[in-house]
Amino acid sequence: MIYFRDVSKIYDNGSVALDHVTVHIEKGEFVFVVGASGAGKSTFIKLLSHEELPSSGTVVVNGIEVNRIAKDRVPYLRRKMGIVFQDFRLLPNKTAAENVAFAMEVIETPRKVIKERVHNVLDLVNLVGKADALPQNLSGGEQQRIAIARAIVNRPLMLIADEPTGNLDPDTSRGIMDLFTKINHMGTTVLMVTHDKQMVDMMNKRVIEIVDGRIVRDEQKGAYGDED
Ligand code: ADP
Ligand code: ADP
Repeated sequence: MIYFRDVSKIYDNGSVALDHVTVHIEKGEFVFVVGASGAGKSTFIKLLSHEELPSSGTVVVNGIEVNRIAKDRVPYLRRKMGIVFQDFRLLPNKTAAENVAFAMEVIETPRKVIKERVHNVLDLVNLVGKADALPQNLSGGEQQRIAIARAIVNRPLMLIADEPTGNLDPDTSRGIMDLFTKINHMGTTVLMVTHDKQMVDMMNKRVIEIVDGRIVRDEQKGAYGDED
């Protein structure tokens, strides 16, 4: 599903963000990526979505060699992944349902299908009752659940989350993690960057730790570890 082979990323200013990284992630896995600020976690994610290109090495996502695809294939690649951020990134002038629908409208899905899928996915995140609310009238946890609904409405193969609980209190975070677990059990690969030690320790999933651009630990049923 995801394969990094000897991948390095050196930014134009000389920053080495990833340093000879090799890693496999199989379909259906749930993986935490941990490490201090500046370790290279976001770069890892940006290489998956073709937001950045590797300086050397190969990045393969779902059989597609990401570093070699033509520009016009990038949207097709990104459709295979749903991405969720710490700051939710909802469109402020659209309702919850419109935010979710928007992800489908851009790929020209028929209206009836959009309506049905939006309803189903809002049901999945337990927010049918907030369908017509604007983001500013939703709590942080609710906004994140809408962002997750938007990320999965096109049924991606993988859900990628960059610090999804970074702005949320522990109780709300637990609810978000339960949702990720539910989505993972539906067959979606989940890759989550996090600083939430308590959560990682509780979940008992695979943990990949990055220090200075290198994978220093990759454990099944791992814990957060001692870093930061
Ligand atoms: P993390 O997500 O773990 O905080 P990043 O992947 O954002 O780490 O950053 C890894 C390293 O690459 C850091 O040293 C950071 O300063 C550097 N870096 C990240 N993005 C850029 C960029 N666009 N230009 C130059 N350096 C960058
Ligand atoms: P539908 O009636 O549209 O077939 P489902 O009951 O199958 O809906 O699913 C409800 C919603 O949950 C879907 O709209 C979809 O976005 C989401 N979903 C279903 N299966 C998965 C999956 N494997 N991974 C992620 N999201 C899924």
